[in-house]
Amino acid sequence: MEKQCTRCLEFKTLDQFYRRSASKDKFQAQCKPCKNAINRESYAANPAKKLTQNLSWRAKNPESYAKCNRGIGLLGDDATRLFAAIAYLKEYSA
Ligand SMILES: [Zn+2]
Repeated sequence: MEKQCTRCLEFKTLDQFYRRSASKDKFQAQCKPCKNAINRESYAANPAKKLTQNLSWRAKNPESYAKCNRGIGLLGDDATRLFAAIAYLKEYSA
């Protein structure tokens, strides 16, 4: 089964989309590369907003955050990669 990404407009298989339980079809509207780019752009545009979102997510998902925290040592202090990892965990823990 293929799905069209609303950003790059390419048809891709569902493994190219992150899951999103709130969506009708359970997948994000944008493919993984596009979603990652969007996350990077929104963080670059407004780091404080993203940080607030992440903190509120962390408060609501202490277990996922604990898993995520273990990954921080591997990621170093690169904030972009860290937020990408958080976004990834968020998708797969939904
Ligand atoms: Zn795309």
